[in-house]
Amino acid sequence: MSTLEIRDLQVTVDTEAGPKQILRGVDLTVSSGETHAIMGPNGSGKSTLAYSIAGHPKYTVTGGTVTLDGEDVLAMSVDERARAGLFLAMQYPVEVPGVSVSNFLRTAATAVRGQAPALRTWVKEVRGAMDQLEIDQSFAERNVNEGFSGGEKKRHEILQLELLKPKIAVLDETDSGLDVDALRIVSEGVNRVRAGGEVGVLLITHYTRILRYIEPDFVHVFVDGRVAEEGGKELADRLEAEGYERYVKKAS
Ligand code: ADP
Ligand code: MG
Ligand code: MG
Repeated sequence: MSTLEIRDLQVTVDTEAGPKQILRGVDLTVSSGETHAIMGPNGSGKSTLAYSIAGHPKYTVTGGTVTLDGEDVLAMSVDERARAGLFLAMQYPVEVPGVSVSNFLRTAATAVRGQAPALRTWVKEVRGAMDQLEIDQSFAERNVNEGFSGGEKKRHEILQLELLKPKIAVLDETDSGLDVDALRIVSEGVNRVRAGGEVGVLLITHYTRILRYIEPDFVHVFVDGRVAEEGGKELADRLEAEGYERYVKKAS
């Protein structure tokens, strides 16, 4: 059982005009086996929260704490965060020139597991996971994110998620740019990972669409850099009907 605990997190982003305050005291706890949805309007700081957990250098933590099973995540390097069991799938995944998907996955698995996975079982594992995500086997020889379509990027993220088996997975806008078929396949992948009961999922999204496939246990409405309201999955239904206007008015 693992727990990611975010307490009063305050973060600024470096802009040309100087640091700008984005996160204004975020409180959130995600444990193994739970799925939390963070929903909010564009520009409310959802991706900033994901990048801050990931340790992106552009974001500066000016207050608060992030711990994983009591360990100080903010003191860890990006690699150490991954080895500790954090998985971050980004809204805008970067290209990794000259590194094939196959090598990338094996390197990542080696880093996370502390030792290289045995080749024979590993190859089977990767093939099986690719089949389930309806990814062609030739995909493994392509360079990471180079010329990937939106759907290929998302499937690659979920492939990593299934193979790396993290303690806590943060998925930022996993639904953006997916057609209905791709959304279903990607959601099924996330649900397979959830079904093990060992992974905690933090699903960040602007739209309620993905929540018809991945049912959250908890919903947090994110407005102006903090959690404005919390509830169960019925809160997502209300957002679908009413939108964010009510919250945005309150915040300004
Ligand atoms: P969301 O993911 O909810 O749409 P973001 O975290 O991407 O929100 O952005 C929150 C706010 O921070 C926005 O006003 C955005 O313009 C600003 N911001 C985020 N990242 C950067 C950056 N790297 N440089 C400048 N401004 C940024
Ligand atoms: Mg955005
Ligand atoms: Mg975003």
